[in-house]
Amino acid sequence: MKLCRFNQNRLGVVEGNVILDVTAALEAIPAARWPALSGDPLLLHLEAIVAAAHELRPRAAHHALGKVTLHSPITQPTKIMAAPANYRLHVLHDTKDPGVDHGVHAKALEGVDRPVDKYGLFLKAGSSIAGAHEGVEIVFPDRRTDHELELAVVIGKPGREIPRAHAMEHVAGYMLGLDMTVRGVEERSYRKSPDSYTVLGPALVTADEIADPHALTMSLWVNGERRQHSSTGSMTVDIPDLIEFASRVYTLHPGDVILTGTPEGVSPVVPGDTVRVACEGIGEMTFRVRGREPRP
Ligand code: MN
Repeated sequence: MKLCRFNQNRLGVVEGNVILDVTAALEAIPAARWPALSGDPLLLHLEAIVAAAHELRPRAAHHALGKVTLHSPITQPTKIMAAPANYRLHVLHDTKDPGVDHGVHAKALEGVDRPVDKYGLFLKAGSSIAGAHEGVEIVFPDRRTDHELELAVVIGKPGREIPRAHAMEHVAGYMLGLDMTVRGVEERSYRKSPDSYTVLGPALVTADEIADPHALTMSLWVNGERRQHSSTGSMTVDIPDLIEFASRVYTLHPGDVILTGTPEGVSPVVPGDTVRVACEGIGEMTFRVRGREPRP
């Protein structure tokens, strides 16, 4: 099932170019008491919500996919984990660009086969999440901000010290994720976590729909020009290893997101740009890049 959040707070099932409104399935989420369970409410109660959505589907109202606003299906993960330098060609090609490298990455990654094993994962703030409708608000207009298209793995079953052999049992589904990045030398958790720098969507595609998450072609276009195009099979440290590695130090909670790294082709975006991303089995979404907005 492809579950999306649309028109602010509606829950939809995406079927082709149609969205079925199954918002009533959210009744499966019990009222929160203090302290709330750790995790994203949709993922904490996903099984019951999917069952209710199946029931509602035959008489659900239809909307054209192109006529609704799309928001991130995930709203409250306890963390967004991300793999640095997890595609070989991204390291080989993109770090040759001084605007990407800043004299740091190529040197640090030279001769390192599996950067994740050496450098670990980094975290992005939950407040950096945006959906396609919100798009990206450039935070430093005088600095370079790049797109990084990544496969986003969403955790369903909680766990700690999850062995590789059982890792995939903890995956609830997949989305596309943008790890938007200010280039520079600051900590990744600063450069990659401004508000709106983690665009998620278009839908949470449950794991049963994706036969092999390491064989998906994903692509990104800026103003119609293709910039990234790769198979998830090219990731260096694969999804089961990323889950084992992450859960050595973090308890994984339902709704936690792992961004699995970006393939080659990252490039700058500026206000006014339109970015489209697509991935077989997951879908596509388009969002805009805008300038920094004044705040009171
Ligand atoms: Mn990235």
